[in-house]
Order: sequence, then C-alpha cells, then structure tokens
Amino acid sequence: MKFEISNNSPLEIETNWLVVGIFEEAEFSESLQELDEKLEGSLSRVQERKDLTGKLGELTILADVPQLSAERVIVVGLGKHDKLTIGSLSKAYTTAFRHLATKENQSLVIMVPEGASSALGEGHSIERLVDVATVACSRQNIYSTEQDRYEFENVLLCGVSDFEVNQNALEKGLILGEAVNLTRELVNRHPDDLYPETFAQRAADEAADIHLQGEIFDQDMLEDEKMGALLAVSRGSDRPPRMVVLKYNGGGKNAPTIGLVGKGVTFDSGGLSLKTSAGMITMKSDMGGAATVLGAITAIAKLKLKVNVIGVMGLVENMTGGSAYKLGSVLTSRSGKTIEIHNTDAEGRLVLADALAYAVDQKVDKLIDLATLTGACVVALGEDIVGAFTNDQEWCDELKTASQKVNEEVWQLPMHDFFAEQLKSEFADCKNIGSRWGGATTAAKFLEQFVDDVPWVHLDIAGPSYAESSSAHRDSGGTGVMVRALVQLAADSC
Ligand SMILES: [Zn+2]
Repeated sequence: MKFEISNNSPLEIETNWLVVGIFEEAEFSESLQELDEKLEGSLSRVQERKDLTGKLGELTILADVPQLSAERVIVVGLGKHDKLTIGSLSKAYTTAFRHLATKENQSLVIMVPEGASSALGEGHSIERLVDVATVACSRQNIYSTEQDRYEFENVLLCGVSDFEVNQNALEKGLILGEAVNLTRELVNRHPDDLYPETFAQRAADEAADIHLQGEIFDQDMLEDEKMGALLAVSRGSDRPPRMVVLKYNGGGKNAPTIGLVGKGVTFDSGGLSLKTSAGMITMKSDMGGAATVLGAITAIAKLKLKVNVIGVMGLVENMTGGSAYKLGSVLTSRSGKTIEIHNTDAEGRLVLADALAYAVDQKVDKLIDLATLTGACVVALGEDIVGAFTNDQEWCDELKTASQKVNEEVWQLPMHDFFAEQLKSEFADCKNIGSRWGGATTAAKFLEQFVDDVPWVHLDIAGPSYAESSSAHRDSGGTGVMVRALVQLAADSC
C-alpha cells in the first residue's frame, strides 16, 4: 500500500475521502475552521445538531461536498483532547479505516489532527496511523470467496511539520503493520493449511526475503538435539514436528542477544486428554506464540535495529494417534530433566521446555517466551490482557515499559516458590501440571525450570492473541498482540 506525506493543502487534493479528526468538547482547530468555511458552515451545523460530538470512534460522513476537491469527508471522533493516547488514536482511526476499506480502490487524504504530535511525540501519530491503516485493510476471511476488505489505493498524510522524522515514522508504521498482519494471518490459517512443515516453510520464505539467517530442524535433527519433550507431543500426529531458529545480528559481537521463544502448536486436540468440541474449535490458533516471534523478528530485521535476536519456534501438532504420548508417560527433556505426564493437554509447556533449553544453550543474554498457554490466565485477566511472569524483575519492568509505550496491556502475575510444589512427581523430576488453582503460575513455574539463571519473562497470550468476536475497532480472529511490544523492547535494548 502506498503512503506519502504531503505538504499540499488537504482541501485542494482530489481524493475519494478526506479524513479529519475532531476532539470532544473542543473548539474547531484551525484546519477544521478552514474546512468548515469552505463547506459554508455545514460542519458547525452538524455539530450544533449534535450529530457530531467528537466522542471516541464516532464516524460522521459528509457525502456531498461539491465545494471540496475530495468526494466525501469522514469525521472521526477522537475523544477528549487531554485523554489522547496512542491507544485512543488507534481505536478511533481503526474504526474509520475498517469502514473505508470495505470498498475497492479508495484513496484517502488524512488531515493529521493538530496537537497529536505535541501530545504523543513527533512522528508517533504518523507511525500509528500508517500501522493501523495497514492492519485495518487486511482481511481476516482469507478463505472466503468474497473479499470484505481492500487495500487503499493511496494514502496522503497532511499537516505534519518535521518531514524527515515523519517520513521515518511512516516507514516504521508500515513495517509494524505488516508484521502484525503476518502474525494475524498465520493465526487465522486453518490447521490443514498451516502445520509444522508449512509454518517452517513460510518462516524460511519470510526470512529469505530479508536475508535473515536461519535453520529448520526436522524430526531427525530434533532427535539429535535430544528434544524429548517436544518430540513426545508430536508423536500422536501424522504431521512431523519442526523447530525454526532465526538469527538476526544487528548489534554486532559485543551487543547482548535476546532470545524470543514461541509455542507453535499448530493444532491442539488436547491429545488423549481430549478437549471438547467447544474447547477445540479455535485450536488452530495455538501457534500464536510462534507467529508472534516470527512477526516481531522480521520487523526488527527490517527496521535494522542495533540488537541481536534469536527467534526459536517450536512447531508440533498435538493429536491422539496410536503413538500418542500417554498419561503417566515419563519424558526426558533436552535439559535431562524427566517429566511425568498428568495431562496431555498441558503440551505447550513441554514444547517450550525444550525450545527454552535450546535458546539457553545458544548463550542468549535475556529471554522472552510467548505462548497461548493457559485458560487459567484468561480466567484471571480476561481476554485483552497478557499475563507476565518472570525470574528477573528488571527485565520484566523493561518489557512492561515497552508494552506501555505501544499500548499493549500486560499484567504481572505472582511467581511464589510454593506454586512449584504442585509440580512434584512420585516417579520423575516433575509433573507437567499442578492443581486447578493458580494454573497460569504453575505453568510458569514449570517453564522456569528450563531457563537456568537467564533473565526471563514468560508471556501468556492465551486470551489476547485471538479475538472471539469483532468490535468497532478490532476484527475477530488473530490480533497480532505483542508484536509491537517486542519490537519496542528490542529498540529500547539498543
Ligand atoms: Zn493443550
């Protein structure tokens, strides 16, 4: 999609849509006054009739504006000026872009709201506008014969002061939007389309496009690497497992290396601890962690951030075939630790145990893992907040700060040692599941055993990575949550 910054007057440019923002309970800004004058006061008349209030996400369309070069005007409610954040800006414009993207070949001229740069920092509003426009245009119904969303033909952004800063922001916004879309697309792909081999191939293609080094581990190589826990999960499936490792060295020899590890269960039936139909219907999305790692590392590489990152994606399908791992089975993980299986639906942590141990062996300095890991985390925090767990408060604080900057909601949950007592086994070093209570934390305590003393944050994205239903500003399906936060964290680590 084509985005450009323009110094021309937005009122003089021929376009399908002139997009203007308006704050709630505020006087018209200078550019809105100019627009109102040109429209012979129709904007203020609509406002007087209370059809235009500026409430966050409100859309008002003026469809007949012969006084302008634009065919139509869409006025986007931005909420109260003093409440403007990256989050409210995203909500407002995503609502508008989703509406405009339902028609083919639309061109847009966006009057960047006055005061946005001073409130959010120069460049930040442009970056986010381009980002959310890119996301809003990309359709989720990828298998539907009827397309419901179209890319804009071109988008001109008017009303910015510092061209260079905003040009860079524009390029960054496009990279971020595309990375979020990559993650969303993979999450949305159905399990007979996206499985370990095809995910790995896609990762290889994405990496090749940007000259990212990498390696794909097949069954034999995983056996050589002694990934006994990951391999056990995949045994009940006809689809062989894969592990993708991508390496980005933007920081040079002396810069620290961040390990990003993702759970990639491309379909989770629960194994012999079989899920119900209702519990299984969205389980194509159980690879959201791996998809987030892929989205983030491609964006980090495209942005040429001065940091080193290793992305590790553990890819398996959890099925019930005759060779499936069983309740009571004891697995030997890569680290040598033995694990007694008490529930085959607690499989993500087994995949992560080996993938984390592999990352530790690569001498990463810091670790983040992402996984659609527990229903318990969704019970605790709801569908929109990511749960964070850590063995290193400083590293976790860095992650939380980065997330806040890009408006991703993260909440830290406890890691008291007594939770680990639930994982004691009579027959092996540990069990793979504790009791019903505190299930998100016991899962994290399980993972903690495999990260040695590397500073580590575990992010449980079971709720936020997949939206069950659409709202005005978000499509149902894959969301791409935490892609932006990981990129921000990498940028902050430079
Ligand atoms: Zn499971």
